[in-house]
Amino acid sequence: MAICDKYIQEIKEKYAHQPEFCQTVEEVLTSVEPVLEAHPEYIEMGIPERITTPDRQYSFRVTWVDDQGKVQVNNGYRIEFNNALGPYKGGLRFSPTVYPGILKFLGFEQIFKNSLTGLPIGGGKGGADFDPKGKSDGEVMRFCQSFMTELYSYIGPDTDVPAGDMGVGGREIGYLFGQYKRLTHRYDSGVLTGKPLTTGGLLGRSEATGYGVVWFLREMLKHNGDSLKGKTVVVSGYGNVTWGTIKKLNELGAKVITISGSEGYILDPDGISGDKVDYLLELRASNQRKCSPYAEKYEGAKFFAGEKPWNVPADIYIPCATQNEITLEDARNIVKNGGKYVCEAANMPSTNEAIKYLQENGIFFGPAKAANAGGVACSCIEMTQGAEHRFLKEEEVYEELEQIMINIHKQAVDAADKYGLGYNLVAGANIAGFEKVAEAMMAQGLF
Ligand code: GLU
Repeated sequence: MAICDKYIQEIKEKYAHQPEFCQTVEEVLTSVEPVLEAHPEYIEMGIPERITTPDRQYSFRVTWVDDQGKVQVNNGYRIEFNNALGPYKGGLRFSPTVYPGILKFLGFEQIFKNSLTGLPIGGGKGGADFDPKGKSDGEVMRFCQSFMTELYSYIGPDTDVPAGDMGVGGREIGYLFGQYKRLTHRYDSGVLTGKPLTTGGLLGRSEATGYGVVWFLREMLKHNGDSLKGKTVVVSGYGNVTWGTIKKLNELGAKVITISGSEGYILDPDGISGDKVDYLLELRASNQRKCSPYAEKYEGAKFFAGEKPWNVPADIYIPCATQNEITLEDARNIVKNGGKYVCEAANMPSTNEAIKYLQENGIFFGPAKAANAGGVACSCIEMTQGAEHRFLKEEEVYEELEQIMINIHKQAVDAADKYGLGYNLVAGANIAGFEKVAEAMMAQGLF
Protein backbone atom coordinates (compact mmCIF):
# COMPACT_ATOMS: atom_id res chain seq x y z
CA MET A 1 0.00 0.00 0.00
CA ALA A 2 1.28 3.47 -0.85
CA ILE A 3 2.30 5.63 2.11
CA CYS A 4 -0.08 8.43 1.13
CA ASP A 5 -3.16 6.13 1.10
CA LYS A 6 -3.43 6.09 4.89
CA TYR A 7 -3.50 9.89 5.08
CA ILE A 8 -5.92 10.25 2.18
CA GLN A 9 -8.25 7.69 3.77
CA GLU A 10 -8.17 9.48 7.13
CA ILE A 11 -8.95 12.84 5.54
CA LYS A 12 -11.79 11.33 3.50
CA GLU A 13 -13.35 9.82 6.63
CA LYS A 14 -12.90 12.89 8.80
CA TYR A 15 -13.93 15.45 6.17
CA ALA A 16 -16.50 13.57 4.09
CA HIS A 17 -18.65 16.71 4.42
CA GLN A 18 -15.91 18.76 2.66
CA PRO A 19 -15.50 16.91 -0.68
CA GLU A 20 -13.53 19.70 -2.44
CA PHE A 21 -10.92 19.62 0.33
CA CYS A 22 -10.67 15.80 0.15
CA GLN A 23 -10.22 16.08 -3.63
CA THR A 24 -7.23 18.42 -3.48
CA VAL A 25 -5.60 16.52 -0.62
CA GLU A 26 -5.88 13.33 -2.66
CA GLU A 27 -4.30 15.01 -5.71
CA VAL A 28 -1.38 16.50 -3.79
CA LEU A 29 -0.56 13.54 -1.53
CA THR A 30 -0.79 11.04 -4.39
CA SER A 31 1.69 13.18 -6.34
CA VAL A 32 4.18 13.45 -3.49
CA GLU A 33 4.25 9.71 -2.74
CA PRO A 34 7.84 9.36 -4.13
CA VAL A 35 8.95 12.27 -1.91
CA LEU A 36 7.47 10.59 1.18
CA GLU A 37 9.20 7.35 0.21
CA ALA A 38 12.53 9.15 -0.09
CA HIS A 39 12.11 11.07 3.19
CA PRO A 40 11.03 8.86 6.11
CA GLU A 41 11.89 11.79 8.41
CA TYR A 42 8.87 13.68 6.98
CA ILE A 43 6.61 10.89 8.23
CA GLU A 44 8.32 10.85 11.63
CA MET A 45 7.80 14.59 11.99
CA GLY A 46 4.13 14.35 11.02
CA ILE A 47 4.49 16.48 7.87
CA PRO A 48 1.52 14.88 6.01
CA GLU A 49 -0.86 15.36 8.96
CA ARG A 50 0.41 18.85 9.79
CA ILE A 51 0.40 20.15 6.23
CA THR A 52 -3.22 19.02 5.72
CA THR A 53 -4.42 20.70 8.94
CA PRO A 54 -4.79 24.50 8.95
CA ASP A 55 -2.70 26.39 11.52
CA ARG A 56 -5.92 28.15 12.58
CA GLN A 57 -9.38 29.02 11.27
CA TYR A 58 -11.52 32.00 12.15
CA SER A 59 -15.23 32.19 11.57
CA PHE A 60 -17.37 35.21 12.34
CA ARG A 61 -20.80 36.76 11.81
CA VAL A 62 -21.01 39.68 9.37
CA THR A 63 -23.99 41.91 10.08
CA TRP A 64 -24.93 44.71 7.69
CA VAL A 65 -27.94 46.74 6.56
CA ASP A 66 -29.30 46.55 2.99
CA ASP A 67 -30.73 49.43 0.91
CA GLN A 68 -34.22 48.74 2.28
CA GLY A 69 -32.96 49.22 5.84
CA LYS A 70 -33.25 45.49 6.56
CA VAL A 71 -30.64 43.76 8.72
CA GLN A 72 -28.68 41.07 6.84
CA VAL A 73 -26.45 38.38 8.31
CA ASN A 74 -23.67 36.44 6.56
CA ASN A 75 -20.92 34.07 7.63
CA GLY A 76 -17.32 35.21 7.22
CA TYR A 77 -14.14 33.11 7.43
CA ARG A 78 -10.36 33.29 7.29
CA ILE A 79 -8.30 30.12 7.17
CA GLU A 80 -4.60 30.49 7.97
CA PHE A 81 -3.31 27.25 6.53
CA ASN A 82 0.47 27.25 6.60
CA ASN A 83 3.07 29.99 7.16
CA ALA A 84 6.29 27.97 6.84
CA LEU A 85 7.44 30.12 3.88
CA GLY A 86 6.06 33.53 4.84
CA PRO A 87 2.94 35.37 6.01
CA TYR A 88 -0.36 33.67 5.12
CA LYS A 89 -1.35 34.86 1.66
CA GLY A 90 -4.44 34.19 -0.38
CA GLY A 91 -7.66 35.70 -1.60
CA LEU A 92 -11.13 36.31 -0.23
CA ARG A 93 -14.08 34.76 -2.04
CA PHE A 94 -17.58 36.26 -1.75
CA SER A 95 -20.10 33.79 -3.08
CA PRO A 96 -23.17 31.96 -1.78
CA THR A 97 -21.22 28.71 -2.40
CA VAL A 98 -18.64 29.60 0.28
CA TYR A 99 -18.44 27.27 3.29
CA PRO A 100 -15.36 26.08 5.23
CA GLY A 101 -14.77 23.12 2.83
CA ILE A 102 -14.34 25.43 -0.20
CA LEU A 103 -11.98 27.71 1.69
CA LYS A 104 -9.97 24.76 2.99
CA PHE A 105 -9.51 23.43 -0.54
CA LEU A 106 -8.47 26.87 -1.77
CA GLY A 107 -6.18 27.48 1.23
CA PHE A 108 -4.51 24.08 0.83
CA GLU A 109 -3.90 24.68 -2.91
CA GLN A 110 -2.56 28.12 -2.08
CA ILE A 111 0.27 26.71 0.09
CA PHE A 112 1.84 24.92 -2.90
CA LYS A 113 0.99 27.58 -5.48
CA ASN A 114 2.65 30.25 -3.35
CA SER A 115 5.64 28.00 -2.78
CA LEU A 116 6.04 27.57 -6.56
CA THR A 117 6.27 31.34 -7.09
CA GLY A 118 9.62 31.21 -5.28
CA LEU A 119 8.49 34.19 -3.17
CA PRO A 120 8.26 34.26 0.65
CA ILE A 121 4.52 33.70 1.13
CA GLY A 122 2.55 31.09 3.07
CA GLY A 123 -0.95 29.89 2.24
CA GLY A 124 -4.37 31.07 3.43
CA LYS A 125 -7.84 31.84 2.14
CA GLY A 126 -11.01 33.49 3.34
CA GLY A 127 -14.35 34.84 2.32
CA ALA A 128 -18.04 34.92 3.02
CA ASP A 129 -21.30 33.39 1.83
CA PHE A 130 -22.33 36.88 0.66
CA ASP A 131 -23.86 36.96 -2.84
CA PRO A 132 -22.65 40.05 -4.77
CA LYS A 133 -25.24 39.42 -7.49
CA GLY A 134 -27.54 42.43 -7.86
CA LYS A 135 -26.12 44.25 -4.83
CA SER A 136 -25.77 48.05 -4.99
CA ASP A 137 -22.45 49.76 -4.52
CA GLY A 138 -23.57 50.99 -1.09
CA GLU A 139 -24.55 47.48 -0.02
CA VAL A 140 -21.20 46.09 -1.13
CA MET A 141 -19.40 48.85 0.80
CA ARG A 142 -21.39 48.27 4.00
CA PHE A 143 -20.83 44.53 3.74
CA CYS A 144 -17.06 45.00 3.22
CA GLN A 145 -16.82 47.42 6.15
CA SER A 146 -18.57 45.01 8.45
CA PHE A 147 -16.48 42.07 7.18
CA MET A 148 -13.26 43.99 7.89
CA THR A 149 -14.44 45.04 11.34
CA GLU A 150 -14.49 41.34 12.22
CA LEU A 151 -11.30 40.43 10.34
CA TYR A 152 -8.83 43.25 10.97
CA SER A 153 -7.33 42.02 14.22
CA TYR A 154 -6.20 38.74 12.62
CA ILE A 155 -4.36 40.19 9.60
CA GLY A 156 -1.30 42.37 8.98
CA PRO A 157 1.49 42.89 6.41
CA ASP A 158 3.70 40.28 8.14
CA THR A 159 0.89 38.11 9.51
CA ASP A 160 -1.77 37.41 6.94
CA VAL A 161 -2.39 39.27 3.68
CA PRO A 162 -5.77 38.78 1.99
CA ALA A 163 -6.50 39.68 -1.65
CA GLY A 164 -9.28 39.13 -4.16
CA ASP A 165 -10.82 35.95 -5.53
CA MET A 166 -14.30 35.28 -6.98
CA GLY A 167 -16.64 38.18 -6.14
CA VAL A 168 -13.80 40.29 -4.73
CA GLY A 169 -12.05 42.75 -7.06
CA GLY A 170 -10.50 46.20 -6.80
CA ARG A 171 -13.71 47.84 -5.58
CA GLU A 172 -14.16 45.41 -2.68
CA ILE A 173 -10.46 45.51 -1.74
CA GLY A 174 -10.66 49.33 -1.76
CA TYR A 175 -13.57 49.29 0.73
CA LEU A 176 -11.86 46.64 2.87
CA PHE A 177 -8.64 48.67 2.95
CA GLY A 178 -10.52 51.87 3.84
CA GLN A 179 -12.13 50.17 6.81
CA TYR A 180 -8.83 48.59 7.95
CA LYS A 181 -7.26 52.06 7.91
CA ARG A 182 -10.18 53.51 9.85
CA LEU A 183 -9.95 50.84 12.54
CA THR A 184 -6.16 50.78 12.96
CA HIS A 185 -5.21 54.34 11.97
CA ARG A 186 -2.46 52.75 9.89
CA TYR A 187 -1.74 52.93 6.16
CA ASP A 188 -0.43 49.36 6.06
CA SER A 189 -0.11 49.12 2.32
CA GLY A 190 0.97 45.47 2.54
CA VAL A 191 -2.07 44.25 4.47
CA LEU A 192 -4.19 43.69 1.35
CA THR A 193 -3.27 43.20 -2.29
CA GLY A 194 -5.20 43.79 -5.49
CA LYS A 195 -5.78 47.33 -4.22
CA PRO A 196 -7.07 50.00 -6.63
CA LEU A 197 -4.32 51.88 -8.47
CA THR A 198 -5.22 55.07 -6.58
CA THR A 199 -4.58 53.28 -3.30
CA GLY A 200 -1.19 51.61 -3.55
CA GLY A 201 -2.26 49.03 -6.14
CA LEU A 202 0.21 47.43 -8.55
CA LEU A 203 0.16 48.31 -12.23
CA GLY A 204 -0.63 45.09 -14.08
CA ARG A 205 -2.18 43.24 -11.09
CA SER A 206 -5.57 42.96 -12.87
CA GLU A 207 -3.96 41.31 -15.89
CA ALA A 208 -1.48 39.25 -13.84
CA THR A 209 -3.32 35.95 -13.42
CA GLY A 210 -4.41 35.74 -17.07
CA TYR A 211 -1.05 36.86 -18.47
CA GLY A 212 0.72 34.39 -16.19
CA VAL A 213 -1.51 31.55 -17.41
CA VAL A 214 -0.67 32.32 -21.04
CA TRP A 215 3.07 32.63 -20.36
CA PHE A 216 2.93 29.27 -18.58
CA LEU A 217 0.97 27.77 -21.50
CA ARG A 218 3.51 29.21 -23.95
CA GLU A 219 6.23 27.32 -22.02
CA MET A 220 4.21 24.10 -22.27
CA LEU A 221 3.90 24.53 -26.03
CA LYS A 222 7.56 25.47 -26.39
CA HIS A 223 8.58 22.37 -24.46
CA ASN A 224 6.69 20.36 -27.06
CA GLY A 225 8.13 22.25 -30.04
CA ASP A 226 4.86 24.08 -30.62
CA SER A 227 3.65 27.71 -30.50
CA LEU A 228 0.48 29.68 -29.82
CA LYS A 229 0.35 31.23 -33.27
CA GLY A 230 -2.84 30.30 -35.11
CA LYS A 231 -4.16 28.06 -32.33
CA THR A 232 -7.89 27.99 -31.56
CA VAL A 233 -8.71 28.34 -27.88
CA VAL A 234 -11.83 27.60 -25.85
CA VAL A 235 -12.00 29.44 -22.54
CA SER A 236 -14.69 29.59 -19.86
CA GLY A 237 -15.79 32.40 -17.57
CA TYR A 238 -15.99 36.10 -18.42
CA GLY A 239 -14.40 37.68 -15.33
CA ASN A 240 -11.04 39.16 -14.60
CA VAL A 241 -8.97 36.01 -15.22
CA THR A 242 -10.77 35.27 -18.51
CA TRP A 243 -10.23 38.87 -19.64
CA GLY A 244 -6.46 38.85 -18.96
CA THR A 245 -6.07 35.41 -20.53
CA ILE A 246 -7.85 36.43 -23.75
CA LYS A 247 -5.88 39.69 -24.00
CA LYS A 248 -2.53 37.89 -23.88
CA LEU A 249 -3.68 35.02 -26.15
CA ASN A 250 -4.65 37.57 -28.82
CA GLU A 251 -1.31 39.29 -28.45
CA LEU A 252 0.52 36.00 -29.01
CA GLY A 253 -1.50 35.16 -32.14
CA ALA A 254 -4.09 32.67 -30.86
CA LYS A 255 -7.81 32.90 -31.55
CA VAL A 256 -10.32 32.63 -28.68
CA ILE A 257 -13.82 31.54 -29.65
CA THR A 258 -15.77 31.09 -26.41
CA ILE A 259 -16.56 32.57 -23.00
CA SER A 260 -19.10 31.30 -20.48
CA GLY A 261 -21.25 32.24 -17.51
CA SER A 262 -23.27 30.23 -15.03
CA GLU A 263 -26.24 30.32 -17.49
CA GLY A 264 -24.46 28.97 -20.59
CA TYR A 265 -21.72 29.78 -23.06
CA ILE A 266 -21.03 32.07 -26.02
CA LEU A 267 -19.52 30.82 -29.28
CA ASP A 268 -17.99 33.58 -31.40
CA PRO A 269 -16.32 31.90 -34.41
CA ASP A 270 -14.88 35.27 -35.58
CA GLY A 271 -12.76 35.39 -32.43
CA ILE A 272 -13.02 37.50 -29.28
CA SER A 273 -10.66 40.36 -29.95
CA GLY A 274 -10.49 44.16 -30.06
CA ASP A 275 -13.33 45.97 -28.24
CA LYS A 276 -15.03 42.62 -27.58
CA VAL A 277 -12.34 41.88 -24.98
CA ASP A 278 -12.97 45.11 -23.10
CA TYR A 279 -16.69 44.46 -23.24
CA LEU A 280 -16.02 41.60 -20.80
CA LEU A 281 -15.11 44.21 -18.17
CA GLU A 282 -18.52 45.84 -18.66
CA LEU A 283 -20.27 42.49 -18.36
CA ARG A 284 -18.49 41.79 -15.10
CA ALA A 285 -19.08 45.25 -13.65
CA SER A 286 -22.83 44.86 -14.26
CA ASN A 287 -22.92 42.37 -11.33
CA GLN A 288 -25.55 40.26 -13.14
CA ARG A 289 -23.40 37.13 -13.46
CA LYS A 290 -24.48 36.63 -17.10
CA CYS A 291 -22.57 36.33 -20.37
CA SER A 292 -25.61 36.10 -22.72
CA PRO A 293 -25.73 39.90 -23.44
CA TYR A 294 -22.55 39.35 -25.52
CA ALA A 295 -24.59 37.52 -28.19
CA GLU A 296 -27.09 40.39 -28.36
CA LYS A 297 -24.29 42.89 -28.89
CA TYR A 298 -22.06 41.09 -31.40
CA GLU A 299 -23.32 39.67 -34.67
CA GLY A 300 -22.14 36.15 -35.45
CA ALA A 301 -21.93 35.19 -31.77
CA LYS A 302 -24.32 32.55 -30.48
CA PHE A 303 -25.49 31.83 -26.93
CA PHE A 304 -25.95 28.20 -25.80
CA ALA A 305 -28.17 28.16 -22.71
CA GLY A 306 -27.36 25.72 -19.92
CA GLU A 307 -24.28 24.28 -21.66
CA LYS A 308 -20.54 24.34 -21.03
CA PRO A 309 -18.06 25.11 -23.85
CA TRP A 310 -16.01 21.87 -23.57
CA ASN A 311 -17.72 20.19 -26.51
CA VAL A 312 -16.52 22.91 -28.92
CA PRO A 313 -13.54 21.63 -31.00
CA ALA A 314 -10.29 23.54 -30.36
CA ASP A 315 -6.53 23.03 -29.92
CA ILE A 316 -6.38 24.44 -26.40
CA TYR A 317 -8.84 24.54 -23.50
CA ILE A 318 -8.50 26.99 -20.59
CA PRO A 319 -11.02 26.72 -17.76
CA CYS A 320 -11.14 30.14 -16.05
CA ALA A 321 -14.46 30.00 -14.18
CA THR A 322 -14.71 27.78 -11.11
CA GLN A 323 -13.93 24.44 -9.44
CA ASN A 324 -14.91 21.15 -11.07
CA GLU A 325 -16.12 22.66 -14.34
CA ILE A 326 -14.31 19.94 -16.36
CA THR A 327 -15.75 16.54 -15.48
CA LEU A 328 -14.82 13.14 -16.89
CA GLU A 329 -17.49 13.54 -19.57
CA ASP A 330 -16.07 16.93 -20.59
CA ALA A 331 -12.58 15.42 -20.69
CA ARG A 332 -13.87 12.73 -23.07
CA ASN A 333 -15.29 15.43 -25.37
CA ILE A 334 -11.98 17.32 -25.36
CA VAL A 335 -10.08 14.18 -26.38
CA LYS A 336 -12.72 13.17 -28.95
CA ASN A 337 -12.57 16.63 -30.56
CA GLY A 338 -8.80 16.50 -31.00
CA GLY A 339 -7.75 18.91 -28.23
CA LYS A 340 -4.04 18.97 -27.43
CA TYR A 341 -3.62 21.19 -24.37
CA VAL A 342 -5.61 21.91 -21.22
CA CYS A 343 -4.25 24.67 -19.02
CA GLU A 344 -6.10 25.49 -15.80
CA ALA A 345 -6.66 29.14 -14.89
CA ALA A 346 -9.40 28.77 -12.25
CA ASN A 347 -8.63 26.95 -8.99
CA MET A 348 -9.19 23.17 -9.30
CA PRO A 349 -11.43 23.43 -12.38
CA SER A 350 -10.95 19.75 -13.30
CA THR A 351 -12.00 16.72 -11.30
CA ASN A 352 -9.27 14.18 -10.47
CA GLU A 353 -10.90 11.65 -12.85
CA ALA A 354 -10.88 14.24 -15.65
CA ILE A 355 -7.17 15.01 -15.12
CA LYS A 356 -6.31 11.32 -15.14
CA TYR A 357 -8.28 10.72 -18.35
CA LEU A 358 -6.76 13.72 -20.12
CA GLN A 359 -3.22 12.74 -19.18
CA GLU A 360 -3.75 9.11 -20.12
CA ASN A 361 -5.02 10.21 -23.51
CA GLY A 362 -1.99 12.29 -24.41
CA ILE A 363 -3.31 15.76 -23.53
CA PHE A 364 -0.63 18.11 -22.18
CA PHE A 365 -2.08 19.27 -18.88
CA GLY A 366 -1.09 22.45 -16.98
CA PRO A 367 -2.39 22.40 -13.38
CA ALA A 368 -3.82 25.53 -11.75
CA LYS A 369 -1.43 25.79 -8.85
CA ALA A 370 1.40 26.24 -11.36
CA ALA A 371 -0.39 27.97 -14.23
CA ASN A 372 -2.42 30.52 -12.27
CA ALA A 373 0.27 31.45 -9.75
CA GLY A 374 0.95 34.74 -11.57
CA GLY A 375 -1.84 36.49 -9.68
CA VAL A 376 -0.51 35.77 -6.24
CA ALA A 377 3.08 36.33 -7.42
CA CYS A 378 2.12 39.88 -8.42
CA SER A 379 0.37 40.24 -5.08
CA CYS A 380 3.70 39.55 -3.41
CA ILE A 381 5.33 42.14 -5.67
CA GLU A 382 2.58 44.55 -4.53
CA MET A 383 3.54 43.81 -0.90
CA THR A 384 7.16 44.69 -1.71
CA GLN A 385 6.06 47.87 -3.46
CA GLY A 386 4.07 48.86 -0.35
CA ALA A 387 6.97 48.13 2.00
CA GLU A 388 9.32 50.22 -0.16
CA HIS A 389 6.90 53.18 -0.36
CA ARG A 390 7.19 53.58 -4.10
CA PHE A 391 5.40 52.61 -7.31
CA LEU A 392 6.75 50.06 -9.76
CA LYS A 393 6.46 50.50 -13.51
CA GLU A 394 4.21 48.16 -15.48
CA GLU A 395 7.18 46.88 -17.53
CA GLU A 396 9.06 46.00 -14.34
CA VAL A 397 6.09 43.98 -13.09
CA TYR A 398 5.57 42.10 -16.36
CA GLU A 399 9.27 41.34 -16.73
CA GLU A 400 9.37 39.79 -13.25
CA LEU A 401 6.07 37.97 -13.77
CA GLU A 402 7.13 36.42 -17.08
CA GLN A 403 10.34 35.16 -15.49
CA ILE A 404 8.42 33.72 -12.52
CA MET A 405 6.11 31.78 -14.88
CA ILE A 406 9.06 30.42 -16.87
CA ASN A 407 10.66 29.30 -13.59
CA ILE A 408 7.49 27.63 -12.32
CA HIS A 409 7.24 25.58 -15.51
CA LYS A 410 10.92 24.64 -15.22
CA GLN A 411 10.58 23.66 -11.54
CA ALA A 412 7.63 21.40 -12.36
CA VAL A 413 9.48 19.80 -15.28
CA ASP A 414 12.64 19.25 -13.20
CA ALA A 415 10.78 17.83 -10.19
CA ALA A 416 8.90 15.31 -12.34
CA ASP A 417 12.18 14.42 -14.06
CA LYS A 418 13.96 13.89 -10.75
CA TYR A 419 11.47 11.15 -9.85
CA GLY A 420 11.37 9.66 -13.39
CA LEU A 421 7.79 10.75 -14.08
CA GLY A 422 8.24 12.21 -17.57
CA TYR A 423 6.48 15.42 -18.64
CA ASN A 424 3.90 15.33 -15.86
CA LEU A 425 3.26 18.89 -14.69
CA VAL A 426 0.61 17.82 -12.14
CA ALA A 427 3.04 15.60 -10.24
CA GLY A 428 5.97 17.98 -10.88
CA ALA A 429 4.17 21.08 -9.55
CA ASN A 430 2.90 19.26 -6.47
CA ILE A 431 6.35 17.81 -5.72
CA ALA A 432 8.24 21.09 -6.26
CA GLY A 433 5.71 23.06 -4.17
CA PHE A 434 5.60 20.44 -1.41
CA GLU A 435 9.36 19.92 -1.06
CA LYS A 436 10.03 23.56 -0.22
CA VAL A 437 7.29 23.76 2.38
CA ALA A 438 8.25 20.42 3.95
CA GLU A 439 11.92 21.46 4.21
CA ALA A 440 10.96 24.77 5.86
CA MET A 441 8.67 22.95 8.29
CA MET A 442 11.48 20.56 9.19
CA ALA A 443 13.83 23.50 9.80
CA GLN A 444 11.35 25.25 12.09
CA GLY A 445 10.69 22.38 14.51
CA LEU A 446 7.20 21.36 15.57
CA PHE A 447 4.45 23.91 15.04
N1 GLU B 1 -7.18 34.50 -5.44
C1 GLU B 1 -5.95 34.43 -6.16
C2 GLU B 1 -5.45 33.01 -6.15
O1 GLU B 1 -6.23 32.09 -6.15
C3 GLU B 1 -4.94 35.46 -5.69
C4 GLU B 1 -4.51 35.35 -4.27
C5 GLU B 1 -3.63 36.50 -3.80
O2 GLU B 1 -3.28 37.34 -4.62
O3 GLU B 1 -3.30 36.51 -2.61
O4 GLU B 1 -4.28 32.74 -6.22
